[in-house]
Amino acid sequence: MSVRNTARDESHFRNRLAEIQVTVLAGGVGGAKLADGIAQHVRPENLSIVVNTGDDFDHLGLRICPDLDTVMYLLAGVANSETGWGRSGESWRAMGEVKRLGGPDWFALGDLDLGTHLTRTHLLADGLSLTGVSHHLCDVFGIGADLLPMSDRPAPTVIVTDEGQLAFQTWFVERQWQPAVKEILFPQDVRTTTQVTTALSKTHILVIAPSNPFVSIDPILNVYPIREMVTDLPAMVVAVSPIIAGKAVKGPAAKMMQEMGMPVTSSAIASYYDGLIDLFVSDVRDEDFPDQPDLLTMKTDTLMVDQGDRSRLAREILTFCMELIEK
Ligand code: GDP
Repeated sequence: MSVRNTARDESHFRNRLAEIQVTVLAGGVGGAKLADGIAQHVRPENLSIVVNTGDDFDHLGLRICPDLDTVMYLLAGVANSETGWGRSGESWRAMGEVKRLGGPDWFALGDLDLGTHLTRTHLLADGLSLTGVSHHLCDVFGIGADLLPMSDRPAPTVIVTDEGQLAFQTWFVERQWQPAVKEILFPQDVRTTTQVTTALSKTHILVIAPSNPFVSIDPILNVYPIREMVTDLPAMVVAVSPIIAGKAVKGPAAKMMQEMGMPVTSSAIASYYDGLIDLFVSDVRDEDFPDQPDLLTMKTDTLMVDQGDRSRLAREILTFCMELIEK
């Protein structure tokens, strides 16, 4: 293809995309990666990212919002690319001192990261909503897209395990997700915000990121009326599988599927989202196809190792969706 054709294709892609509103439902690591890829193509004013806050908790007197921060740091270009969470160029002096003084050190908070938690806790105590805090922090980090907590009210996820009920971070970080999961509990009376319902009602493409369906996406869908809105949306709803080659790229998704009696396949993820999605994106390494007759499918390389992968995957998904919308 000539350089001129490539440039024309690029400008055609950008022009078509200029009118399209995109909303992403995201957890932490997997959610942040695809959200960052999408942010490389969609205009910031056309992009909303609704983030799981079921993992949020109070620790050392601070309000910690792990998924919001993971997405924010990656979009701001200050994320630690090795861990997938936290800041690059981080130092650990405060945490070292917490440990030396006999404080809880099982949840690692770096010095730069602590700056975020201190500021958030201060602003919340001053009366700002979590949405307002997120808006402020994103402004400072130079993020134009709307990074929206799923709710301004706490909505903690509880994990029922073979060792009893555990708060999410106790199970996930302190116990390294080893206790077997029997059930996941979400609070029943939490509402979302007007910012989220407004974003959903005007979206043309809704992307369910390859986040953990059970502890990152379900907590979002459980906040009233997000699941109801997603089910009824005229928008194209697309989900990306977090399972590649029959395994989770990171974290407990595959182990949880086994424990909940599901086959560890991409198709099982597609079935889990049955009734919500129009298009399912799975990895070329997985040969299975969902057996939902009305579901559109797309197979591609969904592993996002660097920013180039994130951008390519996002572009492929957006192109596919726009072609369907224009039909
Ligand atoms: P957490 O809240 O930090 O656990 O993050 P998420 O729920 O957003 O992401 C965890 C999920 O992302 C895991 O189930 C991974 O399999 C999935 N994941 C992480 N990186 C990738 C990737 O590059 N491609 C795909 N398809 N899935 C990924």
